[in-house]
Amino acid sequence: MRVNVSSHDLKVSDHAHHFHPFTDHGALGVDERRVISRADGVWLWDTDGNRIMDGMAGLWCVNVGHGRNEIVEAVRAQMSELAYYNTFFKTSHPPVIELSEKIAEIAPDHMNMVVYGSSGSDANDTVFRMVRTYWDVMGKPEKKVIISRKNAYHGSTVAGASLGGMGGMHGQGGLPVPGIHHIDQPYWFGEGMKTGMSEEEFGIWAARELDRAIEEMGEDKIAAFIAEPIQGAGGVIVPPASYWPEVKKILEARDILFVSDEVICGFGRTGEWFGADYYGTKPDFMPIAKGLTSGYLPLGGVIISDRVKEVFHRSEAGEFYHGYTYSGHPAACAAALANLEIMKRENLVGRVKNDIGPFMQKLWAELGEHDLVGEARMVGLVGALELVPQKSDLSRRFDNVGRVGTIARDHSFKNGLVMRAVRDSLIISPPLVMSEEEASEMAATAKKTLDDTWKTLK
Ligand code: PLP
Repeated sequence: MRVNVSSHDLKVSDHAHHFHPFTDHGALGVDERRVISRADGVWLWDTDGNRIMDGMAGLWCVNVGHGRNEIVEAVRAQMSELAYYNTFFKTSHPPVIELSEKIAEIAPDHMNMVVYGSSGSDANDTVFRMVRTYWDVMGKPEKKVIISRKNAYHGSTVAGASLGGMGGMHGQGGLPVPGIHHIDQPYWFGEGMKTGMSEEEFGIWAARELDRAIEEMGEDKIAAFIAEPIQGAGGVIVPPASYWPEVKKILEARDILFVSDEVICGFGRTGEWFGADYYGTKPDFMPIAKGLTSGYLPLGGVIISDRVKEVFHRSEAGEFYHGYTYSGHPAACAAALANLEIMKRENLVGRVKNDIGPFMQKLWAELGEHDLVGEARMVGLVGALELVPQKSDLSRRFDNVGRVGTIARDHSFKNGLVMRAVRDSLIISPPLVMSEEEASEMAATAKKTLDDTWKTLK
């Protein structure tokens, strides 16, 4: 790698040659970009010499924090032994075998097998194909429709973006592909408050959207329902407490598969191993990625239930024509094993549930008292602040949606904290290893960010 290149020269080269994800390239100037060159714990350093707190754990993934040499060493050792081999053609290797066993141990009891890929998006492509193939094998090929939710994020591939419920993404490239139906989301602050229902009633209403869709299209046409336990990229939409129990009842009464997309909620984010544990649901498929390796290497997959496994093991199922060159990559599996070892040894899931989670939630709730904040919500260590123009009238929203969120996000970065803006809300999802002192600093910086944003708007 080149050394002694100036920050500006790096940015010029980035501008010329690097096409970024989710970026308006025409609008991104050379010097507006930031180049992150080092990280440790919850801290990042950029090439302009700034030290910044990573309030997003990278991209909701660095659960064990940055700079864990134990993972680096595990990957180095694995790469010296066997850097790559495939898992096609009756072949396996020790790290993928050990990792699958470890994942089965932490997954719900009825889920004991893992299909691998390299990301959350390709995990959802796997889901898309497996769900439909499941019903083909079951002799019900007409069950093809997958019900998802508006504002969901399930990735950027064709199946992932189609399953997701983001209008902007659907508008590019003629998505969604046929056979996907999007129902309303349980977004109390954004949608529910307008309806005149209580939060509890709205949760039940939103859950019953699933039942209404099944009735409308016919249960014999529906293959599955896919949902994130808490919508992440859509704005950390924590559903009303009544939502998941009602969805669970509906799923129990219907012959459809349930996909709990655990790409963000998995691996301790909610204070349980999986979001499905947090809400007590019983999935057939759990797409995973991000926290599986804490982002140290790309690895994703889908944990499948015993009933799905049983169907794919039937003789009439035959070969499932699906897989990726990097399915179960040995070095990525070694990273995941070391990551899970750290999570267990440091009791990170219990820590989020009982210690740092409640500590941060209290600080977050205090931010909810700020004049600019209409709602502060947080589960485990994932939260959002809804920004509003007038605290005394929560029905009001800012004109030009997204402008104030962006102003606040930019202030946050200048103040030394990475938060993400979704519409006019600020999102946080810090590493699970954050100390109480760091949590207090994070909350203080978020408070300063709100004050600065308030001043900018006056
Ligand atoms: N599913 C969910 C719930 C996600 O939040 C994401 C990414 O943010 C994905 C899938 C896609 O994962 P990836 O970016 O690894 O493809």
